[in-house]
Amino acid sequence: MTQMTEGVYFIEGQDEFIPDSHAYVVGRPGSQDLSLIDPGLMGKGNYKIQSIQNLGIDLKEITRIIMTHTHLDHIGCCAEIREQIPWAELWVHDIEAGPLEQGDERTVYGMEMFQNMCMTQYNLKPGAFTFYVDRRLQGGENLDIGGMTWEVLHIPGHSPGSIGLYNRLEKILIPGDVVYADYAIGRFDLHGAKGTELKNSLLQLAGLEVNMLLPGHNRIVKDLPSGYIAETARQWAPYLT
Ligand SMILES: [Zn+2]
Ligand SMILES: [Zn+2]
Repeated sequence: MTQMTEGVYFIEGQDEFIPDSHAYVVGRPGSQDLSLIDPGLMGKGNYKIQSIQNLGIDLKEITRIIMTHTHLDHIGCCAEIREQIPWAELWVHDIEAGPLEQGDERTVYGMEMFQNMCMTQYNLKPGAFTFYVDRRLQGGENLDIGGMTWEVLHIPGHSPGSIGLYNRLEKILIPGDVVYADYAIGRFDLHGAKGTELKNSLLQLAGLEVNMLLPGHNRIVKDLPSGYIAETARQWAPYLT
């Protein structure tokens, strides 16, 4: 786990044959109001908790888990982590909150073939990813959390309820799986995904000033060149129809 800046910590995903999402902790130390963004893959709960503790963060300070979206590689170890911080609320975009509460796992697994494979590999029962959602995010909120302001951006396309978290003051973007470093973007063939929506979401992100890009996978970038996301959107536009 690495401190990116005061109030933003990065825990690198530990990929297996399925990727494990990066996790982030946001909020000023001592605020008693820290948020864990995206727990990660099944089996990674202890690693993520250990990483948080290694940085000297008291688990009691973590008051909520915010999901950029509810794919398996992001929500897989949510239950493991909540065993250790059972008081933490779960915040999810409205569109993915309903299915999550009803045990509709199509968005979690993304496709049937993958679901069958994962259920066998990890010995998962139907309904393993049913969660009560404490707060349904819509997009457009300014969250005052941990002494920092984070804007919620609804950026569908990779999944229907994908959100980005944006700190305008420090120009930090946590876009989930919508956009990565190296001009890469999230896949748009899974359940509820839509290329045209992803195109619009990329254009929305391209309008932001971003210095630090903290995506769900792959490299993180501390000094993102200006126009980087706009160029990413331009390169992918022909495929996002
Ligand atoms: Zn992911
Ligand atoms: Zn994803």
